[in-house]
Amino acid sequence: MAENTLRAGWDVEPLNRTFEHSSPEAVLAWALESFGEDVALASSFGAEDVVLIDMLAGLAPNPRVFAIDTGRLHEETYQLMDRIRERYHISLEVHVPEREAVESLVREGGFHSFRESLDARHACCKIRKVDVLQRILADLSAWITGLRREQNVTRQGIRKVAVDGLNGDIVKIAPLADWSNEQVWEYIRRHQVPYNELHDRGFPSIGCAPCTRAIAPGADPRSGRWWWETPEQKECGLHQRSASFQKDL
Ligand code: SF4
Repeated sequence: MAENTLRAGWDVEPLNRTFEHSSPEAVLAWALESFGEDVALASSFGAEDVVLIDMLAGLAPNPRVFAIDTGRLHEETYQLMDRIRERYHISLEVHVPEREAVESLVREGGFHSFRESLDARHACCKIRKVDVLQRILADLSAWITGLRREQNVTRQGIRKVAVDGLNGDIVKIAPLADWSNEQVWEYIRRHQVPYNELHDRGFPSIGCAPCTRAIAPGADPRSGRWWWETPEQKECGLHQRSASFQKDL
């Protein structure tokens, strides 16, 4: 990890005041300038992520983009990854969970233990996503996400620049925090950005195949994720603000 001064105790508020009305490209340009090779985009290849990939590719020759292959992704997501590779000529950094942890999870609970309780779902997300993310972030100074405030009640307070206290006080950057869903799709259409075909089949939010489903037009965009849980429970730990969540995992 490169030396930088944007660490614990660093006051991000001046930057947030500057960036609150700035374009996502301006925020990304600042991130690349500030962190160089030590900043990467976390991508699950949803609509926001492909917008950010397109923007980053216009700002740097080979921006760092990482993904977590949980082993339970949709085939359409794998196909999109290859289309992204071909379009932007970038080396996607794909990480997988620890083999022994996954083997133990499946041996003890089968392939659908996450439906049995919130704790069981958190256990699966921890092994397949959160632990992998923490491993990746340990080598970064900053990470970029496609989080937007209007996505869910759990995301309304997102800042464009924050110190990530759950991940070693590195910097967490959300250039699209204030964008609407319409702005995301207007960008995709205008720039002909490759996107996941599942979006055309009623999936506004795409994660693991067994935990994501299509929704009716006008329904809460996050209602297709973990549909058996309440809105307040719909996070996987990758972006949870409460430290207690991770203790509960
Ligand atoms: Fe497991 Fe579902 Fe979480 Fe994927 S989204 S890690 S399958 S519980």
